[in-house]
Amino acid sequence: MTDPIKTLCPYCGVGCGLEVLPPATSGKPVSRDKQGTPIWQARGDRAHPSSQGMVCVKGATITESLHKDRLLYPMVRDSLKEPFRRATWDEALGRVVDRIQTVRATQGADALCMYGSGQFNTEDYYVAQKLMKGFLGTNNFDANSRLCMSSAVAGYVQSFGADGPPCCYDDLDLTDCAFLIGTNTAECHPIIFNRLRKHHKQNKHVKLIVVDPRKTQTADAADLHLAIKPGTDIDLLNGLAYLLLYRGYLDSVFVSKHTNHFTAFAEVIEDYKPELVAKRCGISVEDLETAARYWGESKRVLSMWSMGINQSSEGTAKVRSIINLHLMTGQIGKPGAGPFSLTGQPNAMGGREAGGLSHLLPGYRSVKNTQHRAEVEQFWGLEPGQISPEPGRTAWEMITGLEEGAVGLLWIAATNPVVSLPDLERTKRALLRSPFTVYQEAYYPTETSAYAHVLLPAAQWSEAPGTMTNSERRVTLCPQFRTPPGEARADWVIFAEVARRLGFSKPFTFNGAADVHAEFVQLTRGRPCDMTGLSHDRLRYEGPLQWPCTKGEDEGNSIQTEKGRFRFPSFMRNPQKLSASRLAAKRLYIDRQFHTPDGRARFSAYHSRGLAEPPDDSHPYVLTTGRLYGHWHTQTRTGRVDKIRHMYDGPFIEIHPRDAAAIGIENGAWLEVRSRRGSARFPAKVTTAIAPKTVFVPMHWGALWAANAEANALTHPEACPDSHQPELKACAVQLVPISTDIITSEATPVEGLNPLASTLSV
Ligand code: SF4
Repeated sequence: MTDPIKTLCPYCGVGCGLEVLPPATSGKPVSRDKQGTPIWQARGDRAHPSSQGMVCVKGATITESLHKDRLLYPMVRDSLKEPFRRATWDEALGRVVDRIQTVRATQGADALCMYGSGQFNTEDYYVAQKLMKGFLGTNNFDANSRLCMSSAVAGYVQSFGADGPPCCYDDLDLTDCAFLIGTNTAECHPIIFNRLRKHHKQNKHVKLIVVDPRKTQTADAADLHLAIKPGTDIDLLNGLAYLLLYRGYLDSVFVSKHTNHFTAFAEVIEDYKPELVAKRCGISVEDLETAARYWGESKRVLSMWSMGINQSSEGTAKVRSIINLHLMTGQIGKPGAGPFSLTGQPNAMGGREAGGLSHLLPGYRSVKNTQHRAEVEQFWGLEPGQISPEPGRTAWEMITGLEEGAVGLLWIAATNPVVSLPDLERTKRALLRSPFTVYQEAYYPTETSAYAHVLLPAAQWSEAPGTMTNSERRVTLCPQFRTPPGEARADWVIFAEVARRLGFSKPFTFNGAADVHAEFVQLTRGRPCDMTGLSHDRLRYEGPLQWPCTKGEDEGNSIQTEKGRFRFPSFMRNPQKLSASRLAAKRLYIDRQFHTPDGRARFSAYHSRGLAEPPDDSHPYVLTTGRLYGHWHTQTRTGRVDKIRHMYDGPFIEIHPRDAAAIGIENGAWLEVRSRRGSARFPAKVTTAIAPKTVFVPMHWGALWAANAEANALTHPEACPDSHQPELKACAVQLVPISTDIITSEATPVEGLNPLASTLSV
């Protein structure tokens, strides 16, 4: 019997444990996909503390996507009008290095940009930071987490003094009241929802409040669904705060001992009387009062949110308004309670730890902080002042930088911005102007590969070892168990090779991913995300562990070898036999000490500015975008899994029956959706699940998978001033019925993929 290999699902931030088995195991037929290719098998890992054996369809089918449409060799071309031709690694990296040197000499380091991914391992993130922010001296590294979690990061930092979700998944089983706002957890974080739903069903006193303009599967399970109008989240949250204050639910001891700025907050919420709030939000006063009562009467309140809060031009203010409710009622730092952001990407958390946004440095440090820069410069052996004190370009600022001619090299890795960035027509036009784009990716084609001058084949999950951190701050080692196809290399290996070719040999000579990790965790020492007690060896032998995890913590049963590595006796390799203390879930702020200079959390006081682009007479509907259960983001993997493709007929638009009647269409009729930036076409799904005057489109279909169905052709790049996260969740649109004759005569999706008709020529 072959022992399964333990790893982590590489799709979403829930971070479910997987066990994988090779295609051929004794006594069983060889596992194959529908095309007959032998594939590894995946199943839930019952010993993984985060998921306890559960997986959703994405995790269960991940192995079907690993071998299809892979980019096998480096490819180059001199202009976007030419086809790619195969190159050696030496030639391809030579081009990249030459270009970096030229740009540094002619435009300066700030003309170099890298756009990375929450799909990176932490080790990939770390080496990229060391190269870009350290040795090249530009903070122009951003990641697709900018589109996903940056408002949560900014909210935590401003309210608590440091990033880091305070809660853990055990809180799902312990809460008395779950307040879900801006998250369709049932579809987007299904394993978290399953666990919460089970607790909710088994305990009659537990209340589930869901705030969402759509009646999602999550809302279907709620005791109370508040279908607020898009953009009224802060009104609702301030209205709840008003009621909590005036109905006697204030925890005045917690507020006076552990917080600041309550008075300013109380003055602001004076303006949020129930009648006004109910009217603005489009809900009843009774429902608002019920929500406040559920929260106020519960001993333990857990709030959860995701993109519906973060992807907003006031995302940070929304996050802080949620946190305000926890602070005023003392609902933090105890089991079953706290504000809990649900992370999108599988390792967006690891990216935050490693400094993977343009204003961050490793170990939850900021580029703006003089001491933080000095600590990192010293650790990396750099001259003082080498790290820039200015935040680098965010993802969208890289696009505007291309427009301005200020970007000389754009290096995109493990992400697909030609589907996921806002205002896609503008994004594409900017990418066409790029003088030199490197695209480092596991798959070919993606929508973005059409815009690259150099393609670098990346090894993906299963082909390179590394660590990932999930939403509850639990770090899992993802071992290599397959050989990378063709000439694909791990992302960090590529970054390190470029660094060495640039002359930074010694700092970028690593003896494998474990060595990179060992260096990285040193930079977390004494920081809120201290991981100095973690290593690849410890994670391999002991299983997934949460941070903070300082050196020496919980290592009582380990054996330290002369090389400093941990070897556990065989009976200890089963995490279920490890001591309860080691497996006990960790929460932040149980001592009520926050990471601010005085140890107190900070209230914030905001009036909502509403949507950046509210509906008006010419564009009278609000478009909101989101995800579906089966697909993951831009379908680079899930679009290649038969079972998942067959779950959905294709893209669609949800519209309320009243709006459908007003424009004279029936279920299945086609609509052209027009915003001020672009248009897209979808068949209508007429449903009361969506509020009147609001329409919903899934974000998964780029040009590779459907013609004219890009949700982000419609969205705008207006962003939160603090987090710089664009408001992908709402824009104003027109709806125009169109004939199906037009649809059937249009180009097929694949023909629509590449406006420059680039091809691989091997
Ligand atoms: Fe993977 Fe997320 Fe599904 Fe878990 S919930 S199996 S991490 S996609």
